[in-house]
Amino acid sequence: MHIIDVNSQILKENSRLAEENKKLFAKYDLHVTNFMSAPGAGKTTVLEETIKRISSKYKISVIEGDLRTSIDSERIEALNIPSYQITTGTVCHLDARMIHNALHDFKLEGSDLLFIENVGNLVCPADFELGEDLKAMVFSVVEGAEKPKKYPVMFHSVEVVLLNKIDLIPYSGVSLEELISNVKEVNPSAKIFPISCRTGEGIDEWIDWFIGKINSK
Ligand code: MG
Ligand code: ZN
Repeated sequence: MHIIDVNSQILKENSRLAEENKKLFAKYDLHVTNFMSAPGAGKTTVLEETIKRISSKYKISVIEGDLRTSIDSERIEALNIPSYQITTGTVCHLDARMIHNALHDFKLEGSDLLFIENVGNLVCPADFELGEDLKAMVFSVVEGAEKPKKYPVMFHSVEVVLLNKIDLIPYSGVSLEELISNVKEVNPSAKIFPISCRTGEGIDEWIDWFIGKINSK
């Protein structure tokens, strides 16, 4: 079908650019993480909590992707972390070219880690490689235990899933056991961390794993 052909051309070109990004990241000896989620799952808050715990050891830069506004970028800059806002307009994902173009203005020399916060969307960010080392997903438990089954491509594409807002479980009626089992069903090798940015539960476990990941690169 024609539409599928066009899509595969776009994705092919995107993969080519992602490879170029990868080479550039390797030149800077940079570890790059792409954070994806639905809107409101807590990506920026997870980034803030992660940054607070590791910024004394690592030099961090952040690229923020949103349709509009620089609200998230400003939150990151408030932590004294350089942040670059990509506003995509109507495009519901980041692609490799957007990252490539950002790097013309946003200098990464001297950084150890780059965090990319993708546009909030559970669908197409999963299809667009950015040249990252690690794909991470933030999922708010109140989105419902059935979502891994409904959005398997995203859940399958990531190496780690942060099940955020577990402090809200008592109010949501969502079963954490059922959610974890559904994540495992679509991605048996995913590393899963139930966390709460509000109480701090699970954050240290995620950080320990992440630091192990950086060191094993
Ligand atoms: Mg955000
Ligand atoms: Zn999209």
